[in-house]
Amino acid sequence: MTDQEYEAACITAAKVYDRFEGEHKVRQYDEQIKLAEATLVRLQADRREIINRYNLNKCEHNWQTLNSGLTICSVCKEVK
Ligand SMILES: [Zn+2]
Repeated sequence: MTDQEYEAACITAAKVYDRFEGEHKVRQYDEQIKLAEATLVRLQADRREIINRYNLNKCEHNWQTLNSGLTICSVCKEVK
């Protein structure tokens, strides 16, 4: 093997290694993204459960009686 052939072989090997290393890093990110997405889904479900358990999605109403005699919630506009 000549010096030029040796140098070319080293460059080829380095490129192959770089690609392998890059692909490995991408797979690591894919795995972390997958875990983060699963965590997000779980946290959103847990959040919904808390909202339902404590009835936080229901208006506490701030009743106001208008001059017309109509009593209405100033927050959700429900009429009494
Ligand atoms: Zn209300």
